[in-house]
Formats: sequence, structure tokens, C-alpha cells
Amino acid sequence: MEKNELKRGIALFSGGLDSILAIKLMERAGFEIIPLFIYTPFISRKFPDEIKEEFEELYGKEFARRVVIHQSGKEYLSLVKNPRFGYGKNLNPCIDCKIFFLRTAASYMDRFKATFLVTGEVLGQRGMSQRKDAILKIERESGLCGKIVRPLSLHYFPETVLEKKGLLDRKMFPAIKGRNRKTQLELAKKLGIARFPQPAGGCLLTDPAFSSRLRVLLMEDLFDIKWINAIKFGRFIVENGIYVVARNNVENSRLMFLSEKYKIPLFVPNFKGPLVVILRGNKEQANKLACRYSRHCSF
Ligand code: SF4
Repeated sequence: MEKNELKRGIALFSGGLDSILAIKLMERAGFEIIPLFIYTPFISRKFPDEIKEEFEELYGKEFARRVVIHQSGKEYLSLVKNPRFGYGKNLNPCIDCKIFFLRTAASYMDRFKATFLVTGEVLGQRGMSQRKDAILKIERESGLCGKIVRPLSLHYFPETVLEKKGLLDRKMFPAIKGRNRKTQLELAKKLGIARFPQPAGGCLLTDPAFSSRLRVLLMEDLFDIKWINAIKFGRFIVENGIYVVARNNVENSRLMFLSEKYKIPLFVPNFKGPLVVILRGNKEQANKLACRYSRHCSF
């Protein structure tokens, strides 16, 4: 293996500050990094091409062009349905999900002749899945011991293969842990990262309201990609069936788009009012709901 192949890695890129910092720090240390964004239907209300546009706006065209987008499929849905290591506070199966992300990233290593992975993990930053024991368990379960570099918290983890080979010196990296983001913000300034999304938001599986919608899909055997996308918008109403009612014109267009993309039944009222997706139910009830939320209907 040539030396430059040893210096090529794949980074799990979430679009957020920590993962861009991890990439920049590795690049500053002389490594070639391929950013990999793993798209799941829960990662955003947006579709992959819209996310790519967002990366372009935030980090520039050149960087966005380098981002490889992996679209996860049924395997990820069955993991959410039936996680081996259980859920967090809501329907977030973080341990299983992280193992899945790492394994997926590892599956790109051959293709890109990469020898290691990079993550933006910070020890102790979030709940259970960023505790040291959990991080190391995830590393073991993914079969990647020693191959994962965490540039932001490198000092708190065992020596990596890169260090054993003398290719990486941890002294060149910061030692960040905990929830305080002051060091990351200073580092962003130093590395010329002017714009980045705020840490709030993100994965819909951690959102209590979205998780309760999702529970209904699970109970009603409606847990598939088209309905998952539909319940990301509008009012979710379980009343003589299951319906999503748009709240405004933006949601009307979104539901129209989804209906065309996934061939899902959409009720269009014959008065000025919201569109209604019928997950289960009938047109009479959809009409009633459209009327309830319209100023132009009086029956
Ligand atoms: S928050 Fe969501 S994307 Fe992140 S590890 Fe948990 S389930 Fe996966």
C-alpha cells in the first residue's frame, strides 16, 4: 500500500460544526479526507439534493462537490423499527444507528482506498451514546477497533492505528470534552469556518412530537418511506382514520410534491383550503378536516 493511501480517510459528515472541524483538523495535519453524508429519512425534512445545496451555501461549492451522499434504505428502517440496543428518550436508536453509520462508512473504504474513518464525536457532549464506554462499545460492534479517529477528543481515547504507524501525532489536536462549545467556536474562527448550522434541530427521531407520529405508523403497520415523509409536515390527525393536513401554502406544495413522488392519496378540497394526505381513511373525513382548517368553508 502506498503511503498516500494510508493518509486517506472517510469522515462521517453530518453538516454540523463538529464534523466540519474534524475534517479541517485532519486536513491541516496532512490527511486527505472524503466527507460522507449518510442520508436517512429522519435526518432532515429535506431531500438529499436540497441538503447538498445547503452544504454549498454553508461551506462553498468546492467542498459541497466533494461530499459523497449515501442514501440509506430499508436496512435503516428495520433498525429503527427493531433496534438491538433499544431507544433513547424518544424513538432514537442512537447506538444501533451509530454502528450502522460506521459500517456504512467502512463499506466505502475499499472504493476510495481509505484506511481509516473520522468522526466529529466529542466525549460527553450528548446523552448516552457519547459516553466513553458507549463510544468504545460502538467501535467494537462495528468491527473498526483502532480505525476511528476522533480529532476533537482524540486525547481521551486509545491509540489509533494511524498513531501506531507514526502517521498521526495527537499533540496536534485539541482535547475537547463536554457540552460547552466555546473551544469549538474558537477553533471555527481559527480555521476560517464562518458559517455553520446551530446544533439544535437535526435528527427527527429525537423529537418527541415526531416520535409520537411515528409510533402511530409503527402500530398501524404504515412504517414505510412514503408515509414517513408525509408525516414530517402538517397537522397529524388520528380521527376516523389517519390524516395529514397542510398548515400553509408551503406545506400544500410539499404534500403535492410528495403525493406525485410516492403516489400517495391526496385530497384536494373544492374550496380554498388545505390539502389532506389520507394515510388511512376516506374522502368524506378528509373533506371535513380540510373544512375545519379553512376560512373559506362554512359547512
Ligand atoms: S440522533 Fe439520530 S442520527 Fe444521531 S445517532 Fe441518534 S438516531 Fe442516529
